[in-house]
Amino acid sequence: MPLAPKKVLIVEDEADIAQLVKLYLEKEGFHASIAQTGAEALALMKSGHPDLLILDLMLPEMDGLEVCKKVRNAPDTALLPIIMLTAKAEESDTIVGLELGADDYVAKPFSPKALIARVKALFRRLERTDDPKQLSFSFGPLVMELSRHEVTVKGKEVALTAKEFGLLEHLLRHPGRVLTRDVLLNAIWGYDYYGTTRTVDVHVRRLKMKIPLLDDAIISVKSLGYKLSDHASEK
Ligand code: CA
Repeated sequence: MPLAPKKVLIVEDEADIAQLVKLYLEKEGFHASIAQTGAEALALMKSGHPDLLILDLMLPEMDGLEVCKKVRNAPDTALLPIIMLTAKAEESDTIVGLELGADDYVAKPFSPKALIARVKALFRRLERTDDPKQLSFSFGPLVMELSRHEVTVKGKEVALTAKEFGLLEHLLRHPGRVLTRDVLLNAIWGYDYYGTTRTVDVHVRRLKMKIPLLDDAIISVKSLGYKLSDHASEK
């Protein structure tokens, strides 16, 4: 049975650009739809379950950054891949976009071909990492074995509490992805947990104290949460 085509939602109020991107995506075998506003995008996400979002920064009413934040904070879409479209003049917005949880960005004006290449690259990158059945992870000299419930660094076991272990597992499962405090709290502590998102900060600090190589590797994402660096540094 052939795989179902990947669904891409284009969020862009400029009809010409949106149509052009849609055309190129469809030529490459993707299923593409268009939302003209952030509100429309959020509604379409609930009904259409896209596999990837192409999100323009400049939108009427709710801007792209706000949409991005909402997508990242909702458990259903927390890991939805996002490529943000920015204008060259908005370098600082680009950085903010990545800090708010976009996985990649393309500056306007762009060639549709280049954008499609980025879409494909992002899908490939995520296919490599997002496997729910994966039972062992490595990050530089750190190895986590779920079957043994064990974490080692250079072969030496590190004693972690259940929550620290769960937090580290979640980060290792999704390298390079921004995980909000709410999403981490729900995943590790559960929806009925009465603590605050500060709990996540405390546990991240403890993990960094116990495993120094994580100190630079777990990156704090302003006002949202954390992400594990794509690759371990050589120390
Ligand atoms: Ca726009």
